[in-house]
Amino acid sequence: MTKIINGKEFAQKVRALVAKEIEISGLKPGLTVVLVGNDPASEVYVRNKDAAAKEVGINAQTIKLPAEISQAELLTKIDALNKDKKVHGILVQLPLPKHIDEKAVINAISPDKDVDGFHVINAGRAVTGQDALVPCTPLGCIMLLKDALGDLTGLNAVVIGRSNIVGKPMANLLLNENCTVTIAHSKTKDLPKVCAQADILVAAVGKPKMVKANWVKEGAVVIDVGINRGPDGKLCGDVDFEDVSPKTKAITPVPGGVGPMTIACLLKNTLEAAKRLEK
Ligand code: NAD
Repeated sequence: MTKIINGKEFAQKVRALVAKEIEISGLKPGLTVVLVGNDPASEVYVRNKDAAAKEVGINAQTIKLPAEISQAELLTKIDALNKDKKVHGILVQLPLPKHIDEKAVINAISPDKDVDGFHVINAGRAVTGQDALVPCTPLGCIMLLKDALGDLTGLNAVVIGRSNIVGKPMANLLLNENCTVTIAHSKTKDLPKVCAQADILVAAVGKPKMVKANWVKEGAVVIDVGINRGPDGKLCGDVDFEDVSPKTKAITPVPGGVGPMTIACLLKNTLEAAKRLEK
């Protein structure tokens, strides 16, 4: 029987745990979300993050800046947030307007407040096994996998996608769990054959319903990170759910799988940052 992994329910549990820990610890974690410009999708994401943070007792604020802001002005704002003792987490919503260098902005955030885990120092710490803030989406995926499978030691994991935000940190987290990890990408030869070796298949590509049943080993666990609009206008993942799910041991749906875990892990990271900074 295939298990449909309920990311919404799991995320709710994570949020409740974060809320409880905040209440018991007496900490007042602070999260500042910086939104530059007025991209409608970004506005929705930022509003959701702000509301979710407030709900668990995080002192959240959103700073809205005009699309024309210069890079230097934005860096000055970030510097002020780095120095603000009440702010434990800083998140700059991406994408930024074209005239701003995203890497420079992300790397200007104090690594200890980088709750998105995108700073080069956090990436380096994660790869070298040091305490790091880990990107929220892969962190959510690994939590779902450990919940579904328990010990991941020795399993073959294939990650499709090599972005700095999802694919690479995902592969690293799987490696830390003692998986044998393959990173596949747009230049991989015979992708279906590579994927068919996987006990754990993580798709983070951005191509609607790309992964088909013949790509998937019988009894594999499939984590679908993709968020796409299908030809019918409906939200769908990178995995053809109807085709693939009967073959799997467990699979995440889209929506309701990985998505809700991303915000839950942002709250977890903000609490983690506050605990470390207030130690
Ligand atoms: P990205 O565009 O940065 O990276 C996509 C990766 O897919 C690249 O590494 C590329 O090599 C690979 N790729 C592209 N075409 C391919 C092909 N035909 N075959 C194999 N590999 C191919 O994207 P990203 O930021 O990593 O996001 C990936 C997907 O995950 C998107 O749909 C995005 O919307 C979604 N996403 C979801 C969440 C969430 O919260 N659920 C968070 C982040 C991203």
